[in-house]
Amino acid sequence: MILWIKGKAYLNKEIKEVCINFDRRIKEIKSICKPDIDLPQGTLILPGAIDLHTHIRGLKLSYKEDVVSGTSEASYGGVTLIGDMPNTIPFVNTVETITTKLKEFEYYSRVDYFVYSGVTKDLEKVDKLPIAGYKIFPEDLEKEETFEVLKSRKLKILHPEVPLALKSNRKLRLNIWYEIGALYYVKAYQNVHITHATNIRTVRLAKELGFTVDITPHHLLVNGEKDCLTKVNPPIRDINERLWLLQAISEVDTIVSDHAPHASFEKLQPYEVCPPGIAAVSFTVPFTLTLVSKGIISIDRAVELISTNPARILNIPYGDIKENNYANFTIIQFNDWRYSTKYSRVIETPLDGFPLKASVYMTIVQGKASNLEGEVFPVKGINPFGEDK
Ligand SMILES: [Zn+2]
Repeated sequence: MILWIKGKAYLNKEIKEVCINFDRRIKEIKSICKPDIDLPQGTLILPGAIDLHTHIRGLKLSYKEDVVSGTSEASYGGVTLIGDMPNTIPFVNTVETITTKLKEFEYYSRVDYFVYSGVTKDLEKVDKLPIAGYKIFPEDLEKEETFEVLKSRKLKILHPEVPLALKSNRKLRLNIWYEIGALYYVKAYQNVHITHATNIRTVRLAKELGFTVDITPHHLLVNGEKDCLTKVNPPIRDINERLWLLQAISEVDTIVSDHAPHASFEKLQPYEVCPPGIAAVSFTVPFTLTLVSKGIISIDRAVELISTNPARILNIPYGDIKENNYANFTIIQFNDWRYSTKYSRVIETPLDGFPLKASVYMTIVQGKASNLEGEVFPVKGINPFGEDK
């Protein structure tokens, strides 16, 4: 099916009224048309948002979140493509487990998706699979095979904490040098991305070493680690570090959710033993646009953060509204509301009630409406790494 959509769009760094013609890909952009979808005043079409770092869980962890609930929440938040992390049960780092994980997304994902493999001893075979790259966890920095994986041409995404951080008590883990030190383990390698930097020194060192880097909204906004709800790795830093990190929003490449759902019975365990993680995949896009509404960043910077830069990091045809790119759009509007999740199995996050000034009007994935005003439809996403570019 080929559709014409008409409305205000962010195109070539300008906002203008246009008509976009698309099926699964964008076919043509004109100034006049007879539209199938005529967007209401006050909405703005952006290239589809991308989240490089989520834990959609599924498989044997479906009690925490499954692919339908997690990707519906992503669509609700305007995210049209998510990257899924391998620390599920089973752990995803073999031909068999990667194939199983990709099948589950193929059947159930309501947005486009890709997966990362964990560090593997089976690099030769795994590297040929349709994966985006590899996730390197702190404990991997002690493994020989990690340094083989780092030589892969694919993307390597590092959780920056030294292995010692895992063995230290929670208070010691607050030391930001545990985070910064991890970058030196990988400094000799290419195509490395540093995820969830919690402080500006990590951001600047990452850029100096030629890496790309992201931050999360929770490391900016959550007011310290007080309980299990606010427990996350790397930990939330103190107010000074968080104010500096706000400055880094003009220096980082992208912003990610690190959506990490857990069941409420797990989060109710004592603080010392409960699992870390905040699950707010739907927060990132409205939050980034809220920064535009408040005059903290420009619309250009917002689009770079949520779409253009992650598309560039992944080297896939997303991130700009132009012919032949996938017809993925995040259509937003500026209005006041307070954040909460809607489709995720997680109904409590430390960002609940946060006042936002932008919301998602519509999410279009592969040319189909995946979400309209908060109602998510069962459309099927694709893996761009399994397609011809
Ligand atoms: Zn994570």
